[in-house]
Amino acid sequence: MKLIHDHPAPADAAARQGVAPVICYPVEGLPRPDMVPFHAARAGWAKVAEVTVPPREARCFAVAAGQFFRITSIEGPQVGDLNLWSQADLRERFYSGKTRALHGTHLSTGDGMWSSFPFLRRMALITDHTLDWYGFDAFGGAVHDVIGTRCDPYTHNLLSGGGQYHQCCHSNLTRALADWTGLPLHEAEGHVHDVLNVFMCTGFTRDTGQYFMKASPVRPGDHLEFLAEIDLIGGLSACPGGDCSAEHSSDAAACHPLLVEVFQPVAPPAGWVAPGVNGYDRSHGRP
Ligand SMILES: [Zn+2]
Repeated sequence: MKLIHDHPAPADAAARQGVAPVICYPVEGLPRPDMVPFHAARAGWAKVAEVTVPPREARCFAVAAGQFFRITSIEGPQVGDLNLWSQADLRERFYSGKTRALHGTHLSTGDGMWSSFPFLRRMALITDHTLDWYGFDAFGGAVHDVIGTRCDPYTHNLLSGGGQYHQCCHSNLTRALADWTGLPLHEAEGHVHDVLNVFMCTGFTRDTGQYFMKASPVRPGDHLEFLAEIDLIGGLSACPGGDCSAEHSSDAAACHPLLVEVFQPVAPPAGWVAPGVNGYDRSHGRP
């Protein structure tokens, strides 16, 4: 947290600290897609599935490549933890760390959700969200982060002096994936991964760089919409933190359900092509 300084600053400390940063992954290599064809594809689409995720629970759902899915706040402010897997191979799953490196700490319209190595391709594209007006607030907070991993019972146990809590998003997603796939619980657990924190409002404190949360600005009717670019299994947990204004990993917060809807467009978005797996040859320099 950089609060303790055991070593004196060198004479050129200010000069070194004053060097301007460069963006690690320049966005020129990943231009924001033209969203017009994606929005046009909504005309006449048909809802083919919906699932309501109960509070402090998770549910899985299937979305075929070329279909859209929408997560909507209903009944009250609520954040959700989203996992994505390839239907073809559970080892291909959402890679929050690389997505963060490519798009930044919080996702918005036009950003992708990228998959794990060796696949590394866009699994889904964010095509719309109604909280795009929020931007970054005065605290540095924003919605839809890829920094917070997921609430889990192991960290809770560590920080609470041995507490056992079973409704964290990690456990909710574990049960949901086990139910969806038929895998034993502990095998399913190994496929649960760092999430997209849907609607959650988070950032890093300016003085200590600590992860913070604050009451989500989400209200019933707000949604986050995606195009599935490969055949997906989604997993969504309605976080026990509710709107995450106070605490998670307990039953203290007011919690609400989340709605997931899947839409089949009349035709795929014009110009859209389903991505193939990554083009790296995987030789790693060995013949
Ligand atoms: Zn959670």
